[in-house]
Amino acid sequence: MYIRALLASGILALSACGAPTADDIRPLRQNIVFDANEVAQDLSQAIQYRTISSAFDPRASWEEFEGFRAFLARRFPRMHAALDPQDLGDGQLLFTWAGSNEDAQPIVLLAHQDVVPIEPGTEDQWSYPPFDGTIADGFVWGRGTLDMKGHLIALLHAVERHLENGTQPERTIYISLGPDEEVGGAGARRAAQYLADRGQQAWFALDEGGLTVLDSPMTNAPAAMIGVAEKGYMTVTVTARARGGHSSTPPRATAISLLAQAINAIEQDPFEHSLNDGPTRAMLQAMAPEMEGIAGFAAANNGIFGPMIRGQLMEEDAARALIGTTIAPTIIEGGVKDNVLPQEATAHINLRLHPRDTVESALAHLRASVRHLDGITIETDQWASNAPPVADFEGPAWQLIAGAASGQAEPGTPMVPFMVTGATDVRAFADTADNLYRYSPARAVMADVARIHGDDERIAVEDLARMSGFFYTVIAEASAAGE
Ligand SMILES: [Zn+2]
Repeated sequence: MYIRALLASGILALSACGAPTADDIRPLRQNIVFDANEVAQDLSQAIQYRTISSAFDPRASWEEFEGFRAFLARRFPRMHAALDPQDLGDGQLLFTWAGSNEDAQPIVLLAHQDVVPIEPGTEDQWSYPPFDGTIADGFVWGRGTLDMKGHLIALLHAVERHLENGTQPERTIYISLGPDEEVGGAGARRAAQYLADRGQQAWFALDEGGLTVLDSPMTNAPAAMIGVAEKGYMTVTVTARARGGHSSTPPRATAISLLAQAINAIEQDPFEHSLNDGPTRAMLQAMAPEMEGIAGFAAANNGIFGPMIRGQLMEEDAARALIGTTIAPTIIEGGVKDNVLPQEATAHINLRLHPRDTVESALAHLRASVRHLDGITIETDQWASNAPPVADFEGPAWQLIAGAASGQAEPGTPMVPFMVTGATDVRAFADTADNLYRYSPARAVMADVARIHGDDERIAVEDLARMSGFFYTVIAEASAAGE
């Protein structure tokens, strides 16, 4: 992919030797063995509940959700007995594992119960029926294995084992199981509000969003992709107004021509794109040792080679999105009849906000881009949201998450902080947790990642034990580190 193109760029005179390695992560691992087959059997059962969420009706598939929650209560009895299970409404479960030290910041571990539907007509493209939870060829197959009942079941196994072992955490540990992540995540917002109402500010919240990619496009090698940031979301309506009338005597610009000029002006005035203010510089640094020759050298020394790397990243759509706020005109409307001058024309432009920009600053930027044009207004809708704050990717919280991830990884796998392009439930905790992380140590080739929300979604049986081991370690390390 993009960074490989660096190999061909004009710095071949430089040697690749001496490139510094990324900060060392001390692997953390508790001496507990999980039986992957046991976790896989539970995941297989979990898949058989068709917990498909609906944007229109929070009670759609209600029996499936109730059946699923009853299964969890049967299978994880200690947790359901000891951790004060609450339904915060519409099946949003919140468990509270009270810590012994009231001054220690709590942590939040998230997963979601719901899955996306199977696209009608694609059922027979699955190797095994999507809701059978078939275990075959070393994988559990079915809708929700990767997204994210595998994560959920592995997490609950870790909690149950801690309770079996008599763990008493110093920090309070909240476990939030959302019913509706795939349709907006209102449940997770209720859980975040629950913390806010009690004056609780978590040290970190951990959810899905990153995994270990076995064939990273940047290095062709494994990389544990730990989400430390995600982008904000904002759609603006650009409205152009001009006089109406008969099209035989038009003004110099109709509402439609004005609108076209406005869109053009906005695209010609892009937002800042750079390696600053986000995890992308650190991402390159972490991957540098795995990259070939010159590319690795440039990535490791990205302070010096920043402008050149930026140039390379700008060439690739997916990479450009990592280093700046994007602008995508997506809907345009205007005009009623071919011989009538339109009095109004509108365009909707979707922005994905880099953490360095805010809804307010982006709106100001767009308005400045069109200030030379008359008759243009730009407004944003009520759904606009800033990117959540970027999580720590150097200090103690990072050392804990990346250390626990490293403890389950093959030696030499880089722990890579990165910007998640999709949105997850964890963003609901932007104001009630200091750090938001998105990771689980499932391992997948890029082709498996494409199965999420697609056909033949699956997870490797052996990874389920890694995942439980990871969560067990996160809980042990976090609960002992009451500060
Ligand atoms: Zn998900």
